[in-house]
Amino acid sequence: MTSARTSTLTTAQIREKFLHFFESKEHLRLPSHSSIAPDPTTLFTVAGMQPFKPQFMGAAAKFEEGASKRVTTAQKCIRVGDIENVGRTRRHLSLFEMMGNFSFGDYFKREAIAWAWEFLTGPQWMNMSAEQMYVTIYEDDDEAFGYWTQDIGLNPSHIHRFGADENFWPADAPAKGPNGPCGPCSEIFYDRGPKYGDDSWADYHQTRESARFLEVWNLVFPQYDRQEPQADGTPTLKDLPFKNIDTGMGLERVASVVQDVPDFYSNDVFLPLIEKIAELSERPYEGEQSVSHRVVAEHARAVSMTVADGVALSNTGRGYVIRKILRRASRHAYLLGLREPSIYKLVPLVVQSMGEAYPELKENQSRIEAALKGEEERFLRTLESGIQRLDALLNQQEKGSVLSGQDAFTLYGTYGFPIDLTREIAEEYGVSIDEAGFDKALAEDQELARAGSKYGKSELFGGADETLADVPPTEFVGYGQLEASGLVQAILSGGESLPHLPAGSEAQVVLHRTPLYAEGGGEVGDTGRLEWDGGEAQVLDTHKTAQGVFLHRVLVQSGELVVGQKVQASVNPERQATERHHTATHLLHAALRAILGSGVQQKGSLVAPERLRFDFSHGAALSADELSQVEQLVNRWITANFAVTWQQLPIAQARAAGAMALFGEKYGDVVRMVTVEGGVPYGSATVTSLELCGGAHVERTGDIGAFVIVGDENVAAGVRRIEALTGDVAARWVRERLTSAGKAASNLNTSPEQLPERVAQLQAQLKAAQQETVQVRRQLTQAQMGGAGEGGTQTRELGGFKVATARLSGIEAGELRGAADNLLDKSGADMAIVVGDKGLVVKATKDAVTRGAHAGQLIGKLAAAGGGKGGGRPDMAQAGVQDPEAALGALETAF
Ligand code: ATP
Ligand code: MG
Repeated sequence: MTSARTSTLTTAQIREKFLHFFESKEHLRLPSHSSIAPDPTTLFTVAGMQPFKPQFMGAAAKFEEGASKRVTTAQKCIRVGDIENVGRTRRHLSLFEMMGNFSFGDYFKREAIAWAWEFLTGPQWMNMSAEQMYVTIYEDDDEAFGYWTQDIGLNPSHIHRFGADENFWPADAPAKGPNGPCGPCSEIFYDRGPKYGDDSWADYHQTRESARFLEVWNLVFPQYDRQEPQADGTPTLKDLPFKNIDTGMGLERVASVVQDVPDFYSNDVFLPLIEKIAELSERPYEGEQSVSHRVVAEHARAVSMTVADGVALSNTGRGYVIRKILRRASRHAYLLGLREPSIYKLVPLVVQSMGEAYPELKENQSRIEAALKGEEERFLRTLESGIQRLDALLNQQEKGSVLSGQDAFTLYGTYGFPIDLTREIAEEYGVSIDEAGFDKALAEDQELARAGSKYGKSELFGGADETLADVPPTEFVGYGQLEASGLVQAILSGGESLPHLPAGSEAQVVLHRTPLYAEGGGEVGDTGRLEWDGGEAQVLDTHKTAQGVFLHRVLVQSGELVVGQKVQASVNPERQATERHHTATHLLHAALRAILGSGVQQKGSLVAPERLRFDFSHGAALSADELSQVEQLVNRWITANFAVTWQQLPIAQARAAGAMALFGEKYGDVVRMVTVEGGVPYGSATVTSLELCGGAHVERTGDIGAFVIVGDENVAAGVRRIEALTGDVAARWVRERLTSAGKAASNLNTSPEQLPERVAQLQAQLKAAQQETVQVRRQLTQAQMGGAGEGGTQTRELGGFKVATARLSGIEAGELRGAADNLLDKSGADMAIVVGDKGLVVKATKDAVTRGAHAGQLIGKLAAAGGGKGGGRPDMAQAGVQDPEAALGALETAF
């Protein structure tokens, strides 16, 4: 496998270069829209242009004032049309990133073509070979042909004209409609060379399928307004007053080309996933089974991203599409021998590769892992028996035959096999499925379920569809208000809707209005209570979906919660502590930028009742002086007691006011700006705080009470983390520190102020005392050994060796060896034996060893006599004993 890691440009770098390139052409960079479609025409976002439909339709006239007419984005797209081919063929992903540049009635075809060319072939950009570029254009688009041949100098033999089925958007619009904006397009292909196939560009015109000629970018030119055809059926294409540009470049496809790897799965984003799957399954990425590695890797990304965007795995709509994808991946993980949930283990790698560009992955990592793991666990319970059942059924079928709809339905109903999965497995046996029969069985079953249920499913949301996707966004009334009444709109458990929830049960509850803040922007979700006539529930946490539907996780304590019921919702008063930490976070951010410079950028934050944590970019550790300046500056705001206000305003105005950090907001959105109404002096400047933020804040800075930095550490290269406390939490922390410092001081007979000097003094004393002890012991050893033959030292002839012994008291075991060395040296004996209070050491000279002396064997006998154990090498051995005199006494007999 070619390693992508040797290539010069990573996928992230290509993404950044693209956005940067179009910024240099005066485009406004906007964040990706959610993978959930911005309009109801599709379930998921399928193209970069989709969030800008209003701009394309209304053209420039309806624009908000000052809005840019040039925009560039990296858009996460989900295409699940031919999901069964993902992993088998290698050009289509279900989640991919479409890089786009858009013009709303501004520049047109000429620039779009020139810039696409410059980006792909420019040496400082993608540096792809111009000779290997091919393009298609719409059959009568001579204007595009002119730009490609004359402006760009492309050889006409590299250009091919297709009809409206290939090179028009929407496809076939001139003849078939719909009416409205439409236009020709020009697709750019890259010839990956004969390694990938021996077909030619001319062959591609016939086959329209090639592994060698890879479509990398589609330039769409919406220039017409299609009108109702005339009586004779001739379609009319009227020129639009404003001509638009909509392009889509496949990021992963370009990355494969630039990194010169065979396909997506060997590029820098996928390779780590593939390798992890090989490691988990202990199956190498090779041969036929490699399909399974690809499916698991690809689907892990798609499922993680959509779950991050708020899709809950369920049995309807979007949730079911994603469940099907995950179940397909589960089956392929199973084929690789994995019998435990494993796909969720890939989430950290997905977060690693895409979390920088799509922070929603990072923010929701633990929720994604839990959702995947839970779903895998559930499906694995039935997967094995389902596979056995299906294998048995299919083994009875002839190739080319049809599996009954009822059988397919049993697999669905009993084993949770989506029809697509059953179809895919059946195809591997050359068997098809009676899909109409399946649909019929499914409809009958649903009819039965409805009749049997006290609450018809449609009643759950007042006649609306039961999927959460159709629940309107929750009205949040919790800024400055901690109580409100709301109607229960839905109760959800494990992706299913429940009509009621009995005491003792836990589920997610949706209210039409709530004062409980949902986790977001670093601020934790609120906890609180729901109360109603005859019952109450605890709210354990609050989250929200990408559509703004708030989910309260509740535990019913008494009574029964029923859909449609009115409840009184209240926020736990801890929220006030959260608000203090949130406003303090803004002040901390402003103070850090004032003191350390504008290189400080927020990298993450956590705002909770018990503390705040703020991660930011900064290359070096903060000095004690800097930390104390930051702390002082924030406290200056607190004592100034300024009002904290917020307002909703269009993004363009917020930008103009100086608010940065646009994130997650859609083009044309209204954002919330939180302002501290007053600045504090720092040096010659006045520092102010103004941030885009949806969080909960105090009314006046004085409410924060106090601000203490309690932690400062490095969390990643160039990223520092500060932890701080406010209000009574800060006061409590300070009190605890003072108490323990007071105790330590009184134990050391000093005052807390003198503690550092006193400790330094004691450390110095301790060190001196230790040195003295070592000295004294050394003297003691020498005194006891005296000269050879004196004091406790003796030398005698034993077994043909000259043996010196010494009996030493008050010596540490560790010092016996040094003493034995000394003795052997000074006495000139063949062997030295030093016996301490609890052990002994025997040493022999080299010469003695060659003559047969063995310290290890000798010590074994001595130790045994002294009630201990020991052994060692011929030249050195050591033992512990209980009775040192007895060990010494055994010496004569030991030889
Ligand atoms: P194809 O014909 O290869 O299926 P398309 O014509 O459907 O692609 P467009 O709708 O023109 O694709 O999308 C613009 C670009 O997005 C394509 O040129 C391609 O580079 C990329 N792209 C489209 N679909 C996928 C996919 N499923 N996986 C990865 N990249 C894709
Ligand atoms: Mg295309």
